[in-house]
Amino acid sequence: MKYRRWYDLRVYSQKFANDMFLILPFPPSFFKELSSFVARTNTCGELRSSHLGQEVTLCGWIQFRRQNIFLVLRDFHGLVQVVIPQDESAASVKKILCEAPMESVVQVSGTVISRPPGQENPKMPTGEIEIKVKTAKLLNSCKKLPFEIKDFMKKTEALRLQYRYLDLRSVQMQYNLRLRSQMVMKMREYLCNLHGFVDVETPTLFKRTPGGAKEFVIPSREPGKFYSLPQSPQQFKQLLMVGGLDRYFQVARCYRDEGSRPDRQPEFTQIDIEMSFVDQTGIQSLIEGLLQYSWPSDKDPVVVPFPSMPFAEALASYGTDKPDTRFGMKIVDISDMFRNTEVGFLQDALSKPQGTVKAICIHKGAKYLKRKDIESIRKFAADHFNEEVLPIFLKTNENWNSPVAKFIMEEQGLGLVRLLETQEEDVVLLTAGEHKRACSLMGKLRLECADLLEARGVVLRDPALFSFLWVVDFPLFLPKEENPQELESAHHPFTAPHPSDIHLLYTEPLKVRSQHYDLVLNGNEIGGGSIRIHNSELQHYVLATVLKEDVKLLSHLLQALDYGAPPHGGIALGLDRLMCLVTGAPSIRDVIAFPKSFRGHDLMSNAPDSIPPEELKPYHIQVSWPTDAETEKSSSNHPCHSES
Ligand code: ASP
Repeated sequence: MKYRRWYDLRVYSQKFANDMFLILPFPPSFFKELSSFVARTNTCGELRSSHLGQEVTLCGWIQFRRQNIFLVLRDFHGLVQVVIPQDESAASVKKILCEAPMESVVQVSGTVISRPPGQENPKMPTGEIEIKVKTAKLLNSCKKLPFEIKDFMKKTEALRLQYRYLDLRSVQMQYNLRLRSQMVMKMREYLCNLHGFVDVETPTLFKRTPGGAKEFVIPSREPGKFYSLPQSPQQFKQLLMVGGLDRYFQVARCYRDEGSRPDRQPEFTQIDIEMSFVDQTGIQSLIEGLLQYSWPSDKDPVVVPFPSMPFAEALASYGTDKPDTRFGMKIVDISDMFRNTEVGFLQDALSKPQGTVKAICIHKGAKYLKRKDIESIRKFAADHFNEEVLPIFLKTNENWNSPVAKFIMEEQGLGLVRLLETQEEDVVLLTAGEHKRACSLMGKLRLECADLLEARGVVLRDPALFSFLWVVDFPLFLPKEENPQELESAHHPFTAPHPSDIHLLYTEPLKVRSQHYDLVLNGNEIGGGSIRIHNSELQHYVLATVLKEDVKLLSHLLQALDYGAPPHGGIALGLDRLMCLVTGAPSIRDVIAFPKSFRGHDLMSNAPDSIPPEELKPYHIQVSWPTDAETEKSSSNHPCHSES
């Protein structure tokens, strides 16, 4: 199932469709600075009636031309109408402005005049004035473009990525990148100027780190030796604390070779933070303040402190560790009500030690969901979870229109109504199975149903609402999916155990809670961090004994912890995802200037590219070319064959 944020998307495209001129509002005091050092006096977007009579020089791209009389000039700041002179004496100016193809770059000089009465354009911020041109210069002519700059939403993403430098001219991309820059600037201000953080750059050529994501490998000239691109500056930021930096931050580029995944990028940006002598509440307050301070002024202010939810509750009520708390439809455990059921698959599930029955109530589901929706929900549950889902339609509170209705006893029916607070026209979805699995299935169905309802016009998630949530009290370790006998870190191996659970590390490690916290926004994880282990012996035990990692790879870190490491902790915010949510963009690629395609390619330059064998020689590596069958297999493993 695909999650489409229908409602958000509609709002996003309308925002720009209605307003071609929507660029970040610059404070008027800033306008003079927008034209410092360059060959213009003003920007196209800044001129108003207050500029009447002024002599101006503008530079920009030709957006439209009407009847060889008017020309609309565009720059990053907006659009302005230019009147093409018609008199003989200005024939050369007319020739330049009439013959230059669309999107050519021109410089015009002239006087700001008011538009004749009745010809003002109230939709255009500069719509009261126009420019009476005296001189014009063609700075560069433009060939026929692969797409028009105006119709942003209609191009395929592959085409946009291939000609990214043209796509960047769109109002949307300009808005997204400028807002990103403004927010990052405010974050720097908050961290460095208000709270004494130090911006430190850490290396991108590094070595393999055990645990966590798969890393990109970079050949070196030493035979058989490779660098790795860091998945995050984790080790360096901890070492900076040992080095007494006390408060570190970095707008850090991180690299993860995780293959194609929608809405992930092989390289992405984190606001990476570490502090000494801090606890979980300290980090949380810092981040709340940071977001509040850097939040765009055109949005509702961020309300702090953010609510907090234990991981176990997030899983039980929302089926995920990143709950979307903008709407209810919570998962309810109804196992007790069905202990004596005659419904086969419920009986079956409850007879197992971890068996549970879970339900969600879709308010007005009977009105908005179609039979085919329910069928596709049941198919999804069968295909991906090998579980059954039963729909119960509530026509009236006593009339159970469902395949199991006849097996549901009156008292169970009433219990359902009470526990799920069902009303007429609601639909209850019910499943059974092991707690975590049943919750996770219900969590996915909850989101799918929300999408379906919104696609039919119900507003469940207010697009103007930003619902932040801390998820806390994670377990320190989880059983590995591929081999549940072995453990892996729920966050990363440097995360400290909860102080009151340390003794369990040596006896029942799965029961240890961690000092790890995630920040969730509207159902997306936008950050995560932890208080770290600062005791070398404990770190060694976790790595070697619990996680069975090769400690030699981390001997430098273990040694550093032995040389007077202060207690410390930190967090990283995923800047791309945060900006995607703030701007309401459909994909994180829309908030990155030069993103990779879905398959990790740069469609503009065709990276990654091949290298001739002689250039590989200094690295002592050779390509072992896959057979046709292997190539076929690896491309059919891609969840999506299209490039973007
Ligand atoms: N390095 C961690 C990550 O990238 C964040 C942290 O623990 O600070 O998820």
